[in-house]
Amino acid sequence: MYNPSRIPEAIAEYHAELTAIRRDIHAHPEHAYKETRTAGLVAERLRAYGADEVHAGIGGTGIVGVIRGSRPGGRAIGLRADMDCLAMNEETGLPWASTRGGFMHACGHDGHTTMLLGAARYLAKTRNFAGTVYVVFQPAEEGQAGAKAMMDDGLFTRFPMQAIYGLHNAPWVPRGSIAVRNGAMMAAADRLEILIEGRGGHGGMPQFVADPVLAAGHVITAIQSIVSRNVDPCDSAVVSICAMEAGKMDTYNVIPRTVKLIGTVRTYRKEVQALVEEKLALVVGNTAAAFGCTGRVEFIRGYPATINHPREAALAAEVGRALFGEANVITEINPNTGGEDFAFFLEAIPGAYIWVGQKSETSVGLHHPCYDFDDRIIPTGAGLLAAITEKELA
Ligand SMILES: [Zn+2]
Ligand SMILES: [Zn+2]
Repeated sequence: MYNPSRIPEAIAEYHAELTAIRRDIHAHPEHAYKETRTAGLVAERLRAYGADEVHAGIGGTGIVGVIRGSRPGGRAIGLRADMDCLAMNEETGLPWASTRGGFMHACGHDGHTTMLLGAARYLAKTRNFAGTVYVVFQPAEEGQAGAKAMMDDGLFTRFPMQAIYGLHNAPWVPRGSIAVRNGAMMAAADRLEILIEGRGGHGGMPQFVADPVLAAGHVITAIQSIVSRNVDPCDSAVVSICAMEAGKMDTYNVIPRTVKLIGTVRTYRKEVQALVEEKLALVVGNTAAAFGCTGRVEFIRGYPATINHPREAALAAEVGRALFGEANVITEINPNTGGEDFAFFLEAIPGAYIWVGQKSETSVGLHHPCYDFDDRIIPTGAGLLAAITEKELA
């Protein structure tokens, strides 16, 4: 009798090989659109596992593997992993630590790539489904929209699919559990640039200047009213100013002509995003004007919010329950204010993004110099992706 709960067990048979692959990728991290070694390894493994087709160079360094089921079927789905690392130094001291200074797999994309390879190996061997599964390995998730690059390069026209699934390790979800919810999983991440222009001059004679530093101080305070006074209390948003440039540190008596502020805005709903953008222009412009300055806002849209589709989120949860038990599937969880470029896929076609828990006594947060992907969850994530495929393409 068909029993999907056996799938992680079956994948655990090659846990040792997958762990070796994960640590090899970890030791050789590659940054956005430069994932050539990783992509080469992925393509080589997919061929060795018996994928029917392997396509390279999609959206830069992206790879798509094609695996057809043993039964005919018109339906196709995609499974996605990200391959890129972060530009930061590793401090884990592990034997498989990064061999490339300034680069590190601090978000676990080495683990995601490995888990998708594990799923591909199982699916290519068993082919217990009808139709086609595309395994999508994307470049440049960290801030450079590799998912969009693959779409712009024809991902969904060359490989038409009715749904797509992706996962991310989650150090805030207990190991052994997965978390998936209908609706927002991750926020829209937009960039904010504010330029306040006044009339600089002598620091000792402020009556002759229009001081952009004073105006910037009021702007920073005033824009915090947007979340507290304009956004509906039942919605949520973040407005953060993270950097400021004004004058020169070796010049104590000159009021500068301009001040530049840089920050980020996080929202889940398009209406809230539009409201924050509109209020920012108003508050910045009018506050600056009150001090005789001008204030201009550039609102640069980054990744959209990652919004799971109801059917696919429910299917992922159902598969998770069959694999890991009712208690290990969390659907009541808050979305996260990080950004994720899987959002572009979910704007184009239905799908779901799932967190695979790796929280333990020693776990460290994502993007931390001491972070490492937990190899114990490889069969969990790989098994989930494989079981979703068998369910979707039953
Ligand atoms: Zn990250
Ligand atoms: Zn990540």
